[in-house]
Amino acid sequence: MGDATVIDGSAVAAGLRKCAAEIAARLRDEKGVSAGLATVLVGDDKASEVYIRAKGRACAGSGLAAFDIRLPADISGAGLVAEVEKLNVDDRVDGVLVQLPLPRQIDPHRVIAAIDPAKDVDGFHPVNVGRLWSGLPTLVPCTPQGCLRLLRSVHQDLAGADAVVLGRSNIVGKPLTALLLAADCTVTVVHSKSKVVPVMCRRADILIAASGQPKMVKADWVKPGATVIDVGINPVADPDGRSRVVGDVDYASVRAVAGAITPVPGGVGPMTIACLLLNTLLAACRRRGIPDPYFGVL
Ligand code: NAP
Repeated sequence: MGDATVIDGSAVAAGLRKCAAEIAARLRDEKGVSAGLATVLVGDDKASEVYIRAKGRACAGSGLAAFDIRLPADISGAGLVAEVEKLNVDDRVDGVLVQLPLPRQIDPHRVIAAIDPAKDVDGFHPVNVGRLWSGLPTLVPCTPQGCLRLLRSVHQDLAGADAVVLGRSNIVGKPLTALLLAADCTVTVVHSKSKVVPVMCRRADILIAASGQPKMVKADWVKPGATVIDVGINPVADPDGRSRVVGDVDYASVRAVAGAITPVPGGVGPMTIACLLLNTLLAACRRRGIPDPYFGVL
């Protein structure tokens, strides 16, 4: 059995970050606009802190301004909404991202709905979700957007492909389904209540694994030659006690069957932050009526 093409998400993401830096520089030099991203972290969850730091570093690396808002874990929902509303009217801020998950006392839907849809760079606001499903211009959620960009790096045309999305979360599975439909795939969504999940997966020309279950997708779930995109990020401890990250796909065995596959780490993960930079720049342009051709370096 042959070895799959390994889709190098780190390399694709590096290219996107370079484009982001070019767009940010042109906005500054030609329009006097310094695009800015505000991240809001509630509490001191370690994993969330790592993500927020990475987002801040990525902004600095591409010449975007970063505003790092830290709030106490016991803040009320109303208090957090008030902070978001301040960012909505702050003209230095083009993108507002509230890091999830939030402490239990806060309803995340209420907070997401408080973000100005024009600054909703995560693409989770109900208005942007509706625009995505309606095929209207929107801010496309970063991880699904990254998956589609990786698919496009190996498939010029996705029309008619049988795509299976394993997972139906609001942040990954559902928006990916909308994007694959918009790309003219025939899409099947499977989840924890689905029957015969391996059989469904094996029908896929394109299989997206977003179940949050370490190494769930096995080699005999994959059609020979299929493209496999692994969204999973699961920390596991090695027998020697060291921690590492594995995906939702059993990479070593699936790689021998698939036509193309993303590794973990180095696949979808780096794409998410690169797409966040692009969404912030897109929001900066749209808010000021700067036309899309300006954005056409991509
Ligand atoms: P999630 O909210 O936990 O959703 C998991 C989905 O998988 C649910 O729809 C669930 O079904 C389904 N599922 C779980 N176990 C299943 C099973 N045994 N059989 C069939 N379906 C099953 O997770 P998420 O937020 O979408 O994230 C998915 C993965 O992507 C996680 O590993 C996460 O860490 C990773 N992730 C990565 C990035 C990145 O930047 N690369 C970003 C976000 C998430 P039900 O709906 O029926 O419960």
